[in-house]
Amino acid sequence: MRIGVLALQGGFIEHIRMLRSLQVDTFEIRKKEDLQTAMDGLILPGGESTVIGKLLKELDLLEPLKEQIQNGLPTFGTCAGMILLARKITGTDTTYFGALDIEVRRNAYGRQSGSFFTEAPFKGIGAIPMTFIRAPYIEQAAPEVEILSEVANHIVAARQGNILATSYHPELTTDSRVHRYFIELLLKDSLIPAEPVFIPII
Ligand code: GLN
Repeated sequence: MRIGVLALQGGFIEHIRMLRSLQVDTFEIRKKEDLQTAMDGLILPGGESTVIGKLLKELDLLEPLKEQIQNGLPTFGTCAGMILLARKITGTDTTYFGALDIEVRRNAYGRQSGSFFTEAPFKGIGAIPMTFIRAPYIEQAAPEVEILSEVANHIVAARQGNILATSYHPELTTDSRVHRYFIELLLKDSLIPAEPVFIPII
């Protein structure tokens, strides 16, 4: 299994470290040629969504990645990565991958005082540490979107099919359970039907 990590700007190194600690093979996506490497999953890190979005367009990466995501590539976006995945960004008509049926509000906790740490439940996992850095939250989610975490009545983690997004940064903690959750989605996706079993006639 190999996971591509978008490495144009922001906190991609931390995702790579987390994946390596889980023995997962990774590679950085910086330019179009990097997409020649086949991937089983994609991580969109935190950073500045406007900067990453601009670079994605300039480097001709937006459309080919969008196509792969639309074709079912399991994708995990943290913070700015969540914004890149959203179908709608509050207050603007700009969208990037538009693959997750959510509306996100950027810098939803304010720009300056908007960084904090808390612990809250992640559905099916239990309480996990959550680091928020000028984070977005989900204003609205379509019925087919599964809500995975809420903090103070705001949705901060969600999944639709094999697209996962968190407002917070699990890669900045030592708790790898959210990354494991993503890897499990990916493994489910690649499950091939069992070979028929031939019982020898003795
Ligand atoms: N505020 C950033 C944005 O809007 C996201 C911050 C982050 O990724 N930590 O893109």
